[in-house]
Amino acid sequence: MKVDDAAATRLVDNPALARHRHYLEQRRLMRPHYMTEPEEKVLEQKTTTGRAAFVRLFDETVAAMTFPYELEGGAAADLSLQQILAKLYDAHRSVRRAAADGLTNGLRKNARLLAYIANNLVLDHRTDCELRNFERPEAPRHLANEIDHRVVEALMTATERHHATVHRYYRLKAKLLGLDQLYDYDRYAPLFADMPRCEWPDARRIVQSSYAAFSPRAGAVVAEFFDRRWIDAELRPGKRGGAFSSSAVPSAHPYILMNFTDKLRDVMTLAHELGHGLHQYLSRPVGYLQCDTPLTTAEMASVFGEMLTFQRLLQLYPEPRIRLAMLCSKIEDGFATVFRQVVLTRFEQALHEARHTEGELTAERVNALWLTANRPMHGEVVRLTDGYGWWWLYIGHFIHTPFYCYAYAFGELLVLALYQQYKQEGEQFVPRYLDLLAAGGVGRAAQAAGEAGRGRHRPDVLGAGLEPAGRHGARGGRVGRPGVTGRFFLDATFIGPQYHLCAGCQGSKRNLLLE
Ligand SMILES: [Zn+2]
Repeated sequence: MKVDDAAATRLVDNPALARHRHYLEQRRLMRPHYMTEPEEKVLEQKTTTGRAAFVRLFDETVAAMTFPYELEGGAAADLSLQQILAKLYDAHRSVRRAAADGLTNGLRKNARLLAYIANNLVLDHRTDCELRNFERPEAPRHLANEIDHRVVEALMTATERHHATVHRYYRLKAKLLGLDQLYDYDRYAPLFADMPRCEWPDARRIVQSSYAAFSPRAGAVVAEFFDRRWIDAELRPGKRGGAFSSSAVPSAHPYILMNFTDKLRDVMTLAHELGHGLHQYLSRPVGYLQCDTPLTTAEMASVFGEMLTFQRLLQLYPEPRIRLAMLCSKIEDGFATVFRQVVLTRFEQALHEARHTEGELTAERVNALWLTANRPMHGEVVRLTDGYGWWWLYIGHFIHTPFYCYAYAFGELLVLALYQQYKQEGEQFVPRYLDLLAAGGVGRAAQAAGEAGRGRHRPDVLGAGLEPAGRHGARGGRVGRPGVTGRFFLDATFIGPQYHLCAGCQGSKRNLLLE
């Protein structure tokens, strides 16, 4: 950071450093945002009792919170956050409604403290941005994500233009469930309670064969994970929840942790984590400093792997009601990953703006911002209850990593576009995709997406998958021709330093999916 630009350019151009060029260039982009060394020292020393202390207070408060759950005619119980969120997936509406009430009541009880923490951290973030010359609160995240503000805005606006798709689906879901009006607590209702189970050996066969059918090389890497016991999937008392793939270091190999419970959903989680595992395995040669991708492409291989396995599952379960349930669940995951994440980001923008212009905000004021951000996605089709206003209070992303959420939307739409490309091109696509994974964090996201989609000069190629199926006479007629968002993947100026892939991404993603 102390080296001036001319000297830095000379150093970066030195062939001896060619291998680390991307890393060095990305680090240099942070230079305008660093202060002097003594200033940085003071900030660093004070953070333990400042920002980090409030984050810890949030974590410990949420972990210790209990939620009163009371089913009519049943016994009352105090549940943890995870337990009460899980009940929102119950097939019985009375259970879901009781869970929603319990969640609201538990959050309201802790609202003063949680809202205070949020107020402080939002203000702290603003102070940081001012000290470091960032022009808007999202700017540090965009820099880390190697993405331009205009691209993110374009992505979000394009997503918002397709809210009618969400409304149309929920109208259908209400019909399938036999309900006149959907409420917020009906969104995750399963279509059927009796879905087939899938045991570990079958799960292994399904996932491994779906990767192998895509590429023998990918299949061989995935087989290695099973054969060499790099996956810890069994349930044990005291084992942590969630799922993630840890890249360890390039000289070792990745490890996967998950909790396999014989559900079809777990087969998808296995495929997801093996996607990360494959990505991490292939990118080892670019070295420790450059193997991690920015958040925007961190979920690329995992979600792509899910798509491969999902298609296989559809073939394996020809029974119409099972297929319908699987498709609905996939669509709802898509909503949670794309539309909902854009809603969360819009809410976060409004929260930061209001904290700045209005001063400290009451929980009720933030509730209003939350409902305003949520209404366009749900429209008249899903009625949001007053209690839902409190449900922003436990979402850790706002606390831990401001403006994290849009990266999910980016990643999911990128994968839909890549998958569409694969459907059109077949075999040809495969080696380019594997090269893209092997580049780790070195290939800039736009270049990477452009190369894999071979679409740098064909703006319609890398579609966002936002267009309804069949429009524009898509080949195959199923996924739909790429929409306007794809253009922005290609035209983007992606800048920024390395970003560490969040371990436990699936865990945190699941939290978002749960609510
Ligand atoms: Zn993941």
